[in-house]
Amino acid sequence: MTQQTWAFLGGEQIPEEDAKVGVKTHALHYGTAVFEGIRGNWNGRLGKVSIFRLKEHYERLLRGCQILRINLPYSVDDLCKITVDLLEKNGFSEDVYIRPLAFKGEQLVANLNLNAVEDEFTLIIIPFGSYIDNNRPLRCQTSSWRRPMDSSMPTGVKITGLYTTSILAKTEALAAGFDEAILLNQDGSVSEGSGENLFMIRDGVISTPSETDNCLLGITRDSIIQLAQNELGMKVVQRHIQRSELYLADEVFLTGTAAHLTSVGELDNRKIGSGETGPITMKLQDLYFATVVGDLENYANWCTMVTPSGN
Ligand code: PMP
Repeated sequence: MTQQTWAFLGGEQIPEEDAKVGVKTHALHYGTAVFEGIRGNWNGRLGKVSIFRLKEHYERLLRGCQILRINLPYSVDDLCKITVDLLEKNGFSEDVYIRPLAFKGEQLVANLNLNAVEDEFTLIIIPFGSYIDNNRPLRCQTSSWRRPMDSSMPTGVKITGLYTTSILAKTEALAAGFDEAILLNQDGSVSEGSGENLFMIRDGVISTPSETDNCLLGITRDSIIQLAQNELGMKVVQRHIQRSELYLADEVFLTGTAAHLTSVGELDNRKIGSGETGPITMKLQDLYFATVVGDLENYANWCTMVTPSGN
């Protein structure tokens, strides 16, 4: 017998197959939704799923809701509890991906006034292994698609409509035989990957595009900045980065909830450093993977440990 999977919709846990929306849903037509991507990492030693930085993900979701004028009847604490309860109910004892979606849920088309459309919230959890192969350095391509500027579309939060650009860029890169796309800003400076933030290392200094470079303010990005500074004593600079700086970097890596921390070995058919995963990237990978399963004591407060109870 297959196990029942549960979702959250309309304020309650329901069987996932019953969690449906209608064809006139506003968000389906206009991208009027905000989502999060959260990972639960299975810690076999403890027999628990470690949800990484749950609170920070919901803080970002609510920032997106504020921009899109989505009023949820939930606080960050309520959303964390809804998530832990649903994970427990599903009883997953493996790596999972947690996808909350706050959306304009009214059955209403031909209305572009956000204030007139009712809101909805749903949450699904799926078993989820690796998103991208992080055992080998990625081959990346500078995308022909540019990251939208915040003046066209808010870029610091995960508004669904914004992902059209990411999807065009990723599809283009895969079709050309690459693993991932790097998107530039309108001015040609570096923004980020299709679903990851970007870091480069040169002469022992780590640099990453800043908040004003239209990248998403990634939670993995923030975690890596803290780990690099606190655990490796490294300097991390947030600044404008030019494309050619990446070609000349010693190491480049991408960070994201789905992609974890993945090294970039090649960009536009040019090797970065030796083309292999560099020594600092490796150290950060080790620290990061220990952190996300709750094994680093100093960062235990980043992890919400959940014991699967089963349904
Ligand atoms: N940039 C984009 C466009 C993303 O979709 C993601 C994934 N959420 C990231 C960066 C990385 O953000 P985080 O580390 O919070 O997952």
